[in-house]
Amino acid sequence: MRVYLDHNATTTVRPAVISAMTEALTLTGNPSSVHSEGRAKRGMIEAARRSIAVLVGADADCITFTSGGTEASNLALSPSIKDASDPRPVTRLIVSAIEHPAVMRGWRFSRSEIESVPVDSQGVVNLGAVEWFFARHREERPGERMMMALMLANNETGVIQPVAEATAIAKRYGGLVHVDAVQAAGKIPVDIAELGCDFIAISAHKFGGPAGVGALIRAHDALLVEDVVLRGGGQERGWRSGTENAPGIIGMGVAAEAAGRDLEAFARLAEQRDRLEAGVKALGPVTIFGAEAPRLPNTSCFADPRVSSSSAMIGLDLAGVSVSSGSACSSGKAKASPVLDAMGVTHDLSSGMLRASFGWSSGPNDAETFLAAWSDIVKRIVSQANAA
Ligand code: PLP
Repeated sequence: MRVYLDHNATTTVRPAVISAMTEALTLTGNPSSVHSEGRAKRGMIEAARRSIAVLVGADADCITFTSGGTEASNLALSPSIKDASDPRPVTRLIVSAIEHPAVMRGWRFSRSEIESVPVDSQGVVNLGAVEWFFARHREERPGERMMMALMLANNETGVIQPVAEATAIAKRYGGLVHVDAVQAAGKIPVDIAELGCDFIAISAHKFGGPAGVGALIRAHDALLVEDVVLRGGGQERGWRSGTENAPGIIGMGVAAEAAGRDLEAFARLAEQRDRLEAGVKALGPVTIFGAEAPRLPNTSCFADPRVSSSSAMIGLDLAGVSVSSGSACSSGKAKASPVLDAMGVTHDLSSGMLRASFGWSSGPNDAETFLAAWSDIVKRIVSQANAA
């Protein structure tokens, strides 16, 4: 039996989600139609919206379904965002240096208006720098607003950001805040009011729903966007046109309920994560990235300088264990993780980066299975190095 430790990439779809989606696929009716079939479908979508609202402490009317976390963040990151209570234009964006690519490039902001906020060696955003950027913006452009994008939990290290503190700073300067909560929702408690931000993005496939469905959630109804990403029939209150993906949305709703119920069990995954980390440390000079910061309970990101990500990944895969590495090989050339780069990790060390992420379907001994395979790989690599 394989051991899947890549739940941050995508997690197992929950059986209750599969049942609900299968049932939904048998139903006809466009949710915008006024006949019985249409109204029944509409009712199911609205029930899903309420379940998701509960998961993140939001008002159901402030939820826009999207095709996932990427689209949700693209939708929020726009200079055309308007807040009825503050008519000043939003002209600049700051993003933390560890954002997911869905956020990092700021997309609809011009490149010259996007700046990066540094993180410390643990991968935690520098709040002093957040304050500095907002203060400078107010001084230079008092008639304009600035937006900040800060993720709640990092996908690679699992490090949880001080979003409420950063948002409090942004709000003192009249800023807008978008939070990519894709890795946090359904894993740790998320409450949009406690975060104090304007938007959060979430994605169903990270908490047991299907891929290809997510949501952008607004803190209140006074937030508006002029240049929506998808224009057409005006569904989702004009925020996202196109016939709703009803089976996906219904599946996301069921996943949100289950993930909300399972938060305590999810928190206990930290015990396995800690056993895994103790085990890899016992086998060599391993660095655990972000170990001193608050982290998601399920995520471990580490490197042993003697072991490259690629050889570890191949060895683990052959042994039946799936993990991920920070390296992207789009051009056939391994690239260092920009997240670890931002944390000041040397390329020598980050080229060995591995991420093991547990999930709701992890077995109780997955850490031990991983460690048995890891121990073989380390022994082989060390003996090869000694023989050379
Ligand atoms: N943001 C973060 C932090 C993620 O980890 C991911 C997915 O890996 C995304 C955004 C993108 O979400 P989606 O795959 O739903 O587009």
